Amino acid sequence: MNSSRLQTDEYINGVLRGDRGILAKAITLVESTLPGDQRLAGEVLKAILPHAGNSIRIGITGAPGVGKSTFIESFGRMLLDRGKQVAVLTIDPSSQLTQGSILGDKTRMQDLAKDVGAFIRPSPSGSALGGVAASTRETILLCEAAGHDIVIVETVGTGQSEIAIKTMVDFFLLLMLPGSGDELQGIKKGVVEMADAIVITKADGQNATAATTAQADFQHALHLLPNQRSGWMPKVVTASAMQGKGLPAIWSMIEEFKNSLSKTGSFAANRKSQQKAWFKDYFSVLLSADPKRFARVAEEERRLAALVESQGLFPREAARQLLDTYYTAITSGDR
Ligand code: GDP
Repeated sequence: MNSSRLQTDEYINGVLRGDRGILAKAITLVESTLPGDQRLAGEVLKAILPHAGNSIRIGITGAPGVGKSTFIESFGRMLLDRGKQVAVLTIDPSSQLTQGSILGDKTRMQDLAKDVGAFIRPSPSGSALGGVAASTRETILLCEAAGHDIVIVETVGTGQSEIAIKTMVDFFLLLMLPGSGDELQGIKKGVVEMADAIVITKADGQNATAATTAQADFQHALHLLPNQRSGWMPKVVTASAMQGKGLPAIWSMIEEFKNSLSKTGSFAANRKSQQKAWFKDYFSVLLSADPKRFARVAEEERRLAALVESQGLFPREAARQLLDTYYTAITSGDR
């Protein structure tokens, strides 16, 4: 185990007291795939769990340049001014390719980062989405136990990472530029369907009229979608993060969402069903943490998938063969 690690109690007490330095260290611990660290992380998480869960978890996505970091900076500042404690986490799939996080760029959200009530944490680089998702979930719990009332999880609009975010937040905000509701600005339709609200950004100056038109367009487009199971009607609002316009209304909307869904039990039910996605993500983490054992399975899966696609191998037969490889991997060698 890494010698810079703290004792279990130091992590637990530090997080519960809201010590930001120790919170950051505890997050590094849950992101680690070293077996010793994983055991320690498990103990820390178990101890802090009774103190977690009390925040509202907000997911924010949108294409690059739509204004996410400016929005989070202004929105976060407004919440801090209202006495809230805000944590901002990022999921950045591009960091897997570049080994360096674009969203975690130090120049982003600099002002917010300076505030004692705010905590900003970029995505760990170089890990698979399943791993990032699993550690982000645990990071949410740590931030909550450290006293953060609002946890914002941000990602860029790429498709897969929005699905990951949707399974870890209570409220999902999609940011769009003032433009028509017909053009989806690089955002997949499935992502629009997942949104609890769409914010038309940069609704100021010359954009103000276009933003209002876009609002009506998107509201119309949303009406054509099937109703959400929770009964929540997704809303479309306009905002200017630069002028602070529309931000209080967005916060009121999120509070209204929480209140009304809590009354019907949908809020809690959603969190419960999210546990299932977490379980799956964590399983993929365990698999990737044991690369020697499971490399053959992954390789066989790729080989069979190619055969299914190009050689017409019957999928049922391919799945059987993959399962055999799996069993061999599990039963071979000591754990
Ligand atoms: P991100 O890539 O989605 O995080 O977008 P940024 O927050 O970095 O913003 C992209 C660009 O849009 C920057 O040049 C911002 O100054 C600008 N921008 C962001 N929010 C607003 C806004 O409310 N109004 C205007 N006019 N410009 C904005």
